[in-house]
Amino acid sequence: MPSPREIDRVLIPRDRIAARVREMAARIAEDLRAAVAADGHSPDEGHRIVLMPVMTGAIVFTADLIREMPLRLSLELVTVSSYPGQSTESRGATLAGELRADIAGKHVLLIDDILDSGRTLDLLRGIVESRGPASVRSAVLLDKKARRAVPFEADYVGFEIPDEFVVGYGLDVAGRYRNLPFVAVVKPDAVLGK
Ligand code: 5GP
Ligand code: MG
Repeated sequence: MPSPREIDRVLIPRDRIAARVREMAARIAEDLRAAVAADGHSPDEGHRIVLMPVMTGAIVFTADLIREMPLRLSLELVTVSSYPGQSTESRGATLAGELRADIAGKHVLLIDDILDSGRTLDLLRGIVESRGPASVRSAVLLDKKARRAVPFEADYVGFEIPDEFVVGYGLDVAGRYRNLPFVAVVKPDAVLGK
């Protein structure tokens, strides 16, 4: 397990995350069920709902979320790589690989750990929309509203947080800390990967 002395402070404890994820799952499931019904389909028919978690950070959130959603759904994992730029404004995101799933006519939910500049989800929404889905929604556990570089709002947000670098519950720094059961701020040395 990660060493506790690298943790500056716990921002969101485990029990608050669990309670919030349950609330989010209930709302999302209700909305998706209604969307499928509005198309004239039964939610039990299957293949109408595709959840698209962004690797790797969204795995913990997604794992908890889907187990609170009694719906027929499929998962399509996507990987987005960020490419560096000289300034924050010139940085961007690209999809690594191809979207394999046929999402035409389906209700898609993008899932990410955190909404920061907005580039990742903005890129994905564009790609998904170009494939003719019935709808595209997005859910994030955390939202750093102050950091947005492109206009993007998620439909479902767990917690709004201040502009601080956080780890845990799927979020990493240099590949570490994803397995912390809470969201925490790490000490500056850890952020630098020391
Ligand atoms: P965006 O494209 O919205 O700028 O970035 C979202 C991605 O940036 C997230 O999926 C996550 O990988 C990374 N990110 C943004 N803020 C943080 C943070 O505070 N901690 C960690 N570990 N990753 C972050
Ligand atoms: Mg990410």
